[in-house]
Amino acid sequence: MTWRFALVIVPAASDDRRIDFADTFREIDPSAPALSVGELSTQRGDGIFESIGVVDGHAQEVAAHLDRLAHSADICDLPRPNREQWRQAVVLAAAQCPPRGEGVIKLILSRGVEHGPAPTSWVTAAEAPDNTAVRERGVRVVTLDRGYGSDVPGRAPWLLLGAKTLSYAVNMAAIREAKRRGADDAIFLTTDGFVLEAPTASLILQQGRRFVTPAPNGGILHGTTQLSLFEHLREGGYETAYETIPVADLTTADAAWLVSSVRLAAPVSAIDGRELRVDRGLTASFNRYLLSPRT
Ligand code: PLP
Repeated sequence: MTWRFALVIVPAASDDRRIDFADTFREIDPSAPALSVGELSTQRGDGIFESIGVVDGHAQEVAAHLDRLAHSADICDLPRPNREQWRQAVVLAAAQCPPRGEGVIKLILSRGVEHGPAPTSWVTAAEAPDNTAVRERGVRVVTLDRGYGSDVPGRAPWLLLGAKTLSYAVNMAAIREAKRRGADDAIFLTTDGFVLEAPTASLILQQGRRFVTPAPNGGILHGTTQLSLFEHLREGGYETAYETIPVADLTTADAAWLVSSVRLAAPVSAIDGRELRVDRGLTASFNRYLLSPRT
């Protein structure tokens, strides 16, 4: 990852209506140490984040990412981010991304330093990895037990399901396990046999002219890429639906994709060793859409 920019933000109250938040921003050297050793983000993964794709200097779907940042903050009992302040920070970060090609902006809101007075917030911009091959060739996935049943989101809200928290160690372990099993990525399942999401992406299944994805209230993150692609599909005359999807539907789907803000649409070429048809034309049209400027 080539870092291009880092900005520390002094978080403003959510109802602060000033027009210009420039004096709450401090640009820092992205390659120099910056965090206090008492930071709860590094000590406990206690915080939230967003990764925003940037195409030719344009930050994609900023409103949807700011919506989800606010949602994650609510779930985690963090102070509500000041939307306009974060929007201005994204504008500054986007200006530091390559004017041609892809970049990634990260927004981070941590609980701050232990016993400290306020959250710690920062924004970074970097060049995105080259995802061309994975968008064309696709990913082989294995299904992995997520270790909880489909009733857990309602029963145990303290698991923070649905928030994009900094605690991604489990997600990274799942990808390592998938690789040990000879695949590239994973699809999580509930213990009672329903499909959830991938460790860093949403899952979309095609059933004829219908596209389905697991319902976001079922213990997963509501993906901004899936939301945007569903809108695009509906405009193209396709049907879209949020459903509780039994694992058996993975075998009967016509095609499947893992979608996320930076990798975009990666077709699934095999599930648990069973080959799945990759629709190159449709996948290319998804990625053309996802690479066009989106707000
Ligand atoms: N689900 C998980 C667990 C993720 O980590 C991500 C993205 O990182 C997604 C879904 C897709 O979200 P988005 O499309 O907003 O990138």
